Amino acid sequence: KLNTGTKNPAHRLILETFVKAGSPRDILWDAKPHIGSDILPTVVTNISQRIEQLGGTVRYRTRLVNIRTDESGAITGVDVQPPQETTSETIATKHLILACGHSARDVFELLKEHDVTLAQKTFAMGVRIEHPQHDIDRAQYGPSAGHPALGAAPYKLVAHLPNGRSVFSFCMCPGGQVVAASSEQGHLCVNGASLNARDGRNANAALLVNVTPDDLPGDDPLAGIELQRACERAAYRLGGSNWNAPAQLVGDFLAGRASTAPGKVKPTYPLGVTWTAIDDALPQHIVESLRLGIPLLGKKLRGYDRPDAVLTGVETRSSSPVTVIRDRTCHAVSTPGLYPCGEGAGYAGGIMSAATDGIRCAEALIADL
Ligand SMILES: Cc1cc2nc3c(=O)[nH]c(=O)nc-3n(C[C@H](O)[C@H](O)[C@H](O)COP(=O)(O)OP(=O)(O)OC[C@H]3O[C@@H](n4cnc5c(N)ncnc54)[C@H](O)[C@@H]3O)c2cc1C
Repeated sequence: KLNTGTKNPAHRLILETFVKAGSPRDILWDAKPHIGSDILPTVVTNISQRIEQLGGTVRYRTRLVNIRTDESGAITGVDVQPPQETTSETIATKHLILACGHSARDVFELLKEHDVTLAQKTFAMGVRIEHPQHDIDRAQYGPSAGHPALGAAPYKLVAHLPNGRSVFSFCMCPGGQVVAASSEQGHLCVNGASLNARDGRNANAALLVNVTPDDLPGDDPLAGIELQRACERAAYRLGGSNWNAPAQLVGDFLAGRASTAPGKVKPTYPLGVTWTAIDDALPQHIVESLRLGIPLLGKKLRGYDRPDAVLTGVETRSSSPVTVIRDRTCHAVSTPGLYPCGEGAGYAGGIMSAATDGIRCAEALIADL
């Protein structure tokens, strides 16, 4: 999905770049443009090949394991390690665009060790919720549901709660699938995706509640990552420690009891689910807010709180819990030559805003050169 809450003149260039790389042309005019997980790999491969044609080098599966700085703290190089090798290679450089994504926990630890200025940032966690797509179509399109010109209906929901928090849907995938998004052994988290046709039986979306710096213990900039990790470890355990995801029916979740079997809505998570009480894997304020919020969302979209809708957990990676502080010219304030970029550095929240920030950092680097 290429919809974004941000506005930037670069968006047209980004969409046209996707089309040149093989994306369907309708992303140029659709208000909610979508490529689809089946077409995206071709698009990414074509973009990588274009980078190489223009003189760039793409090193797959090569890890950044260290950054090198001089006595003034400025970047002088990076150490990278190819797969299956125990020694690293140093690449000398005075400029490093670091666009490592929000799950590069080892990179954030590395930055902390090098005294790069980091700060906690508001992020969000919760669950994936699944409904039959035809129920969402009916709720959104009424008697026109199922018309081929309409396709699978999306939704975007928010409920402002009496406790001062909000529950909101995010990354809604019409006709999609809940997918595994884990990146560490023994830590389980989920996300969602759709194929281009969006013709799967279920609709899914993240249902999230914000975690602010005030919710975190202490002021360690990486405290949000530790909270994500604690939830992911609990989810792995609840799932049975075999990569099954923990799942619970909405009716049971609202009643505060564990689930034992599915109702009519069958989960799509491909590795299997374990029926349990999913709320044991989330902070109390998120559980309370989801309990208050789901019935309110049911008043906004008919059937949203149906008792056999499926909650799968945990959704911890919707946004970065940390930000690398940079100035107006995209330089890390602590580290000359370092350009923290994209979602992991805290400057984007999705494909379009990450691409826009990539262009912003590239322009800053060109201006420096
Ligand atoms: C399943 C799923 C579905 C999503 N669906 C959507 C969607 O529909 N629409 C949307 O807008 N967003 C979606 N997102 C979010 C979107 O993917 C991100 O917002 C976006 O990719 C962020 O871009 P980025 O360039 O900042 O980081 P990333 O795309 O995360 O790129 C970071 C890169 O850095 C690499 N890296 C990390 N550490 C190291 C290291 N030490 N050494 C070398 N390389 C390293 C990673 O391997 C990765 O390739 C989805 C995410 C997931 C997981």
